[in-house]
Amino acid sequence: MKASSLQQKELLRLQALDIKVLQLGHQSTSLVQHAELVALGREVEANRMKLLVCSGELEDVRTELGRVESDVEVVEKRIARDEDRLQHTSSVKDIQALDSEIASLKKRLFDLEEIEIAVLERQEEREAAVAVVQGERDAIRERVSATELTRDEVLQGLTRELGELTRDRQSVAAAIPDDLATLYERLRITGHGNAAALLRARTCSGCTMTLTGSDLADARQAPADEVIFCPDCGAVLVRTEESGI
Ligand SMILES: [Zn+2]
Repeated sequence: MKASSLQQKELLRLQALDIKVLQLGHQSTSLVQHAELVALGREVEANRMKLLVCSGELEDVRTELGRVESDVEVVEKRIARDEDRLQHTSSVKDIQALDSEIASLKKRLFDLEEIEIAVLERQEEREAAVAVVQGERDAIRERVSATELTRDEVLQGLTRELGELTRDRQSVAAAIPDDLATLYERLRITGHGNAAALLRARTCSGCTMTLTGSDLADARQAPADEVIFCPDCGAVLVRTEESGI
């Protein structure tokens, strides 16, 4: 294939731009924030489980407190009822029975109030534990938001850069003849992105192979407008004043 030396040199610019595009793609998928968000996701899940356990424990204590409070209410009502009866009876036997029942109810009430205080203390402890885990959750959420913000900013920057590269590439590609451009695109696929390389100091800058013997002689003898290829990596070898041949 024939292409002017200038057109061949444009391939090198195209190749450099394509490498940058690939690097940008790699940068955008391997952002440190992606890994951080995955790790934060695990923290969010662990915190969610912790909060479930803590809230469950608090709920159990609240249920227990409700039971004790309702027991207290029942006993208080019975005491009030007995005291009322006491006011309205003159039977010595009844008075004795009621006195005795009131005494035992008051003992029961005292015990229940002791239990109530203990349960209230445990409720406070559980509430504090839930608050701690909720605080941790809020801190994790803030870190997630901050990391997402940074990630989005970096991605926006990369997208902007990609846009500029794409425009540059279009203007460079416009100066390359169709057959050479087609060849370049085909080599990009087979060469895994390496389609055109500068021959510098007899060495292919695509694969670092140094031309010797007949390969070197071929490169020397080929007319300047002849498209030649690296015998090792297959990329278009672009000869310039740096080629050393
Ligand atoms: Zn090569």
